[in-house]
Amino acid sequence: MAAVIGQIEAESVPETEAPSMTDGFHLVIDAFKLNGIDTIYGLPGIPVTDLARLAQARGMRVISFRHEQNAGNAAAIAGYLTQKPGLCLTVSAPGFLNGLTALANATTNCFPMILVSGSSEREIVDLQQGDYEEMDQLNIARPHAKAAYRVLHAEDIGIGVARAIRAAVSGRPGGVYLDLPAKLLAQTMTAEAGRRSLVRVVDAAPRQLPSPESVERAIDLLKSAKRPLILLGKGAAYARADAEIRALVERSGIPYLPMSMAKGLLPDDHPQSASAARSFVLAESDVVLLIGARLNWLLSHGKGKTWGAPKRFIQVDISPTEIDSNVAIAAPVVGDIGSCVSALLEGIGASFPRPDAAWLQAVGERKSKNLEKMAATLAKDPVPMNFHSALRVLRDVVKANPSVTVVNEGANTLDYARSIIDMYEPRKRLDCGTWGIMGIGMGFAIGAAVETGKQVIAIEGDSAFGFSGMEVETICRYRLPVCIVVFNNNGVYRGTDKNPCGGEDVAPTVFVKGARYDKLIEAFGGKGYHVSTPAELERALREAIALGEPVLINAVIDEAAGTESGRLTNLNPQSAANKK
Ligand code: ADP
Repeated sequence: MAAVIGQIEAESVPETEAPSMTDGFHLVIDAFKLNGIDTIYGLPGIPVTDLARLAQARGMRVISFRHEQNAGNAAAIAGYLTQKPGLCLTVSAPGFLNGLTALANATTNCFPMILVSGSSEREIVDLQQGDYEEMDQLNIARPHAKAAYRVLHAEDIGIGVARAIRAAVSGRPGGVYLDLPAKLLAQTMTAEAGRRSLVRVVDAAPRQLPSPESVERAIDLLKSAKRPLILLGKGAAYARADAEIRALVERSGIPYLPMSMAKGLLPDDHPQSASAARSFVLAESDVVLLIGARLNWLLSHGKGKTWGAPKRFIQVDISPTEIDSNVAIAAPVVGDIGSCVSALLEGIGASFPRPDAAWLQAVGERKSKNLEKMAATLAKDPVPMNFHSALRVLRDVVKANPSVTVVNEGANTLDYARSIIDMYEPRKRLDCGTWGIMGIGMGFAIGAAVETGKQVIAIEGDSAFGFSGMEVETICRYRLPVCIVVFNNNGVYRGTDKNPCGGEDVAPTVFVKGARYDKLIEAFGGKGYHVSTPAELERALREAIALGEPVLINAVIDEAAGTESGRLTNLNPQSAANKK
């Protein structure tokens, strides 16, 4: 019998011998490589250990994690940063379920990602006969993914991978599940037939041009506005139409507001940025041009007190069903952002009427007032250090190093950092996103460090860090340039809550007091810092960036600082009820 060997080696086998063979393992790897996917984020185990080994042997980068959810988050953010689907590999059943959380989050956030999981044999799963890690993974994945496929025959691997890639990146990007039963990986076929079965995906995310009428309607509405506003979302950052978006903002002269992951698409210190007057412009504007942003909970569903004066919306989005999802959209422009913004630019030409001077003046005045107020708060140096004085340091360090990627999660740590730290380059701020979840921290930090090869600063609440903290070992193992700053106030929201019964157990929101998170990274050969003043924090950050190696800074924050649920008090049923 012919030996099972990979296709590359097969080329050197003399023709007179029995036909050279390939198998499912090789075909899966070759199919991804053929499509330029060269990194796997995953966690090996039955039945995919050899897949991970072989992938590395065949030149793919394999980043191995301690928990599949973090691997999945790394893959998802890799997809967001590169426009290529990030690949996550897991074992069956529990490993798959761990990865599924990240896949669902990727789908929710419109990040392209493929979760590949090994699975048990169909025959046993379908008759529920009790297999090792038995689970009907395909059906479980379906509602949480943009698409889900299973491959049963080796000759279909090429098509299966092609479908997964196309589904992940075309139209509105999202998460795709690819189910690979263990038996498939061991199937063999001739190397020649295998090679022919693979598919190089052509134009995986085709441009989608908006209709000329929709562009005209949008421009007419924009021209009629007295108090226009442009709102940029992370779809705009993903689209990589940076120059066109900047040209549209600048040529129109309209104030703009970036959603949190769109910060830096134009530098946050741009004169037209209305971030410091956010509530004012949302309430007072009359026409709002949404580019790659949904009117979901993060924007109060486009209605209510937040939005104040009556509005008319223009919405640029690739997904036609996003239009009218919360409020009526007067001028939908459906297509890819690059094409839509180019068409809008062409339509407005060189002579777009400047917005009303009174509107620009009102926005400018509100901005100055709020910036002054914030400057006064940030100038204080309370003892112990609080969120603001610590974030002032991070703001300055990011300003001095604008190409660092900032990962940010927590409650208060997230809310304050988002408004205090200015971003200067696109796609450099990665955070809790559409679900507002905790646990993305180390996965995103690793994905960003691997994909960009540049410094990452992960600004973490102590509670948020706990969800993925074990990945500091992964960060150390691959010597990634990640500096983690843990804002340590001894608990969820703050560390001062008490057990109302006075029993032995502490309150459910309280952690071990004075915890030394810096020791955690030292256990794996990274560098730890323990700081309690802005000056110490600044020194540690500057050393970390100069070092470009794994660092964890345990930043001690006043344990009484921090509000319940951060800025989401209204979503906390008890607090909301008390307010009524
Ligand atoms: P944010 O949270 O920043 O407000 P959302 O995730 O809510 O942003 O919205 C992103 C939107 O961008 C989604 O509705 C998605 O369909 C859209 N989108 C993503 N990529 C593109 C693209 N290339 N072209 C057009 N729209 C896109």
